[in-house]
Amino acid sequence: MTTLLLYGGETDPAAPVSRTGGLPLVPDGFDWPLCAECERAMQFIAHLDRGEDVVSVFMCQNDPGMCEEWDPSAGGNRARVLPAEGLAPAAVPAEGRTLLEDVSVLVAQCVEAKGYGQADTDGPVDGRPVLGQLGGVPAWLQNDETPDCGGCGEQMGFVAQLEEGHGHAAPINFGGGCAYVFACDACKEAAFLWQC
Ligand SMILES: [Zn+2]
Ligand SMILES: [Zn+2]
Repeated sequence: MTTLLLYGGETDPAAPVSRTGGLPLVPDGFDWPLCAECERAMQFIAHLDRGEDVVSVFMCQNDPGMCEEWDPSAGGNRARVLPAEGLAPAAVPAEGRTLLEDVSVLVAQCVEAKGYGQADTDGPVDGRPVLGQLGGVPAWLQNDETPDCGGCGEQMGFVAQLEEGHGHAAPINFGGGCAYVFACDACKEAAFLWQC
């Protein structure tokens, strides 16, 4: 079985559901991530609801391609594990490319396929564009780049794979490829990278 993430339409920017775009939901005292390369505010990419916690993904888009925003450790992106309790919409920085134009709900749906690569993801599934997969095994476009946790040194667990969006004007820039989200549940750390 493979759990696909299908396009579930638009929603409120602060909706507490898995989505790409909209506003990050954050705890008190959260600092909006700044890019280590250009030092400007990153773009909020995705909110992934895991029940007890959420994984929140940011990536620099102030100068696309110049901040190593595809790399899990260069500082051009940031993924965080945040406890689900007590989150509220973040204050958006005044400067920088901070938000996607499109808010897309991610709906999980199991399909009979041995993996994401075997699932028929080129066209819609049940009439809905495929926006990625939840859990399972990463379908790498290049080499396996599973990150090690900065806290404990163990390989991180796979959380989700994300496509650039639905339609021709895909709202997210993964260089035409896919993004991969990982987390260490023991250390509450997350990592993000993309390949094309
Ligand atoms: Zn940057
Ligand atoms: Zn760890």
